[in-house]
Amino acid sequence: MKLAIILFNLLFSIFVLAGGSLVGNGSGVSEQNIIFAYSALIDSIDQCISGPNCGLTDLELTQLQKIRAVRLANASRSNVIQFVSESQSPEFFELSVIEQHRIAKTGLTSDSPIYFNSDVLYLSDGVAEIDFPLATAILIHEVGHQAGNPDHAFLDGIGAKIRYALTSKQVTYNLSVDSDRNSIQIFNYGSLTIRSQAFLTTSKAKVSLGHRIGGALNCSSPDARIAGFEVWNGHWESAGQSGYRFTAWVRFSCLSAGQLQIQRADLGMNFNLNSEGDLELLDVGTKEAANP
Ligand SMILES: [Zn+2]
Repeated sequence: MKLAIILFNLLFSIFVLAGGSLVGNGSGVSEQNIIFAYSALIDSIDQCISGPNCGLTDLELTQLQKIRAVRLANASRSNVIQFVSESQSPEFFELSVIEQHRIAKTGLTSDSPIYFNSDVLYLSDGVAEIDFPLATAILIHEVGHQAGNPDHAFLDGIGAKIRYALTSKQVTYNLSVDSDRNSIQIFNYGSLTIRSQAFLTTSKAKVSLGHRIGGALNCSSPDARIAGFEVWNGHWESAGQSGYRFTAWVRFSCLSAGQLQIQRADLGMNFNLNSEGDLELLDVGTKEAANP
């Protein structure tokens, strides 16, 4: 196996040298979903490890803990996720020593990069093929390989259960502006010790909002820190000439001296149409809930 991995690395080095534009970092909606899903992978895993465990078997749970450990160990590594065009390098996705899938591949060691095939990330009409839950399932599979497990079907099974857990907690709030469809998607993990994921998707871009929401929350005790939050009951409304406002309720937990305290707040996010007619986040604010 070691020889095979060395050969794989050698072949990849040759490809990088041969084609300067082989590896890229995509910036479309599918690519963003993959990058967000990778950055949120620990939280997506924890919803199934710390909560009612998503219907995982004991074997799957043990594997998921190994996947979590590899993701955590790679937290400070950059460029783990890379995008490669199959049409520009036709044999690249055939060369993998372990992976038959067309969409992504990696090696059986934790330092192997995860390569995504940038040719299969969109439908023919340009709509993103890979949403956040699917990206999470693919990454569970690939990080499972990085953790040393070569069993594609077993890893697919775990990925499917995490994907289902995410999809069942997804709430989408749509806003149509002229002919453009925009939406805010919220993924509440069902635990107040995990931070929800929130995204704004426009026709041109995808923006993560979760860290902005978390940054706008205030614990009543000054030495406490936010442990997690969930966003509920969202609404879009018009605000001024070209402005839009999204309001919602937030339930969050504050951790101080080992004690969790649950608080509530009203969330308000202001958006504006930029010069290109695309929806853009202006600011995020919270105030103490009227009826906590
Ligand atoms: Zn595989």
